[in-house]
Amino acid sequence: MKKLFLILMIISVGQLFAQEPFKRTMKLMGSRFDITVVAKDPVEGDEYIDLAINEIKRIENLMSSWNPDSQTSEINRNAGIKPVKVDAELLNLIQRGIGISKLTDGAFDISYASMDKIWKFDGSMTTMPKDAMVKASVSKVGYHNIILDKDKHTVFLKLTGMKIGFGAIGKGYAADKAKELLISKGVVAGIINASGDMNTWGKQPDGKEWKVAITNPMDKNKVFALLPITNGAVVTSGNYEKYVNINDVRYTHIIDPRSGYPATGIISVTVFAPKAELADALATSVFVMGIEVGLNRIEQLPQVECIIIDDKGNITASKNIEINTIE
Ligand code: ADP
Ligand code: MG
Repeated sequence: MKKLFLILMIISVGQLFAQEPFKRTMKLMGSRFDITVVAKDPVEGDEYIDLAINEIKRIENLMSSWNPDSQTSEINRNAGIKPVKVDAELLNLIQRGIGISKLTDGAFDISYASMDKIWKFDGSMTTMPKDAMVKASVSKVGYHNIILDKDKHTVFLKLTGMKIGFGAIGKGYAADKAKELLISKGVVAGIINASGDMNTWGKQPDGKEWKVAITNPMDKNKVFALLPITNGAVVTSGNYEKYVNINDVRYTHIIDPRSGYPATGIISVTVFAPKAELADALATSVFVMGIEVGLNRIEQLPQVECIIIDDKGNITASKNIEINTIE
């Protein structure tokens, strides 16, 4: 009898502390998000996931250039006209974006947005745009012309027709912020996966590390590698989702702001970093910088690693990476 009581005690105490992963998939920021949280029951799991969703929606409202009511749209509308007062959060994000531009010699540039009119990655484009048009589009691009006033909290785009956009760091930033919020609410472990931009914390309930699957860029339905990841971010930028084929050359949706032409040669870049925002920005940058320069820059950054796959299927990784590829 005593023994049975003890067993029952153990079971109920076990249940009290039992933690399980709960996952939900939804569309946010125009992309697929998979949010996983470790919680004690589905009700708690749902509450946590709702918190993360609200945080991501809040960020989307602040920085989407599609939404005419966002502060970003307000900045773009006033390009060449006047500085616009914005939240400190947006100002800081823009400042960090400019920091990445400096680090990458302008390969990364949030003012790339005016080039978007030339290149369409939805299948509607069949011929190369005229060289003169491409050149003209770059004339509005340049992080030097984004003027921040930290005291007045304003952002001014100097040139008329200039635009900024967070296509290359927004999802990473949202993943970081959702993670930060959930940690502050006591969530012990989870994964925020924004279409391959992911940030994890803690471990799986069985004590094992979370594993991330990296898509095989040669066949997007296959996994190329499974890597363990603890408390950090991993982001993959690939040209297998958004691209255009013209005269048998595949052009990705990542554009070199200095030439106006899409990057070619690389088909997938995976970056590991403490934060998804940095990893996201760097993954995009490496596409533009190419293998040699890209790898060189990555190796100079502490706690940052990368894996690059080129269009011949060659894999290049930074020094500390060990890959166990899946056959
Ligand atoms: P994905 O959204 O597929 O994960 P990225 O994070 O690499 O890919 O972001 C690509 C997006 O970033 C493009 O769709 C565009 O909005 C924007 N972009 C393209 N080229 C650049 C660039 N050189 N610098 C900054 N942003 C860019
Ligand atoms: Mg990116």
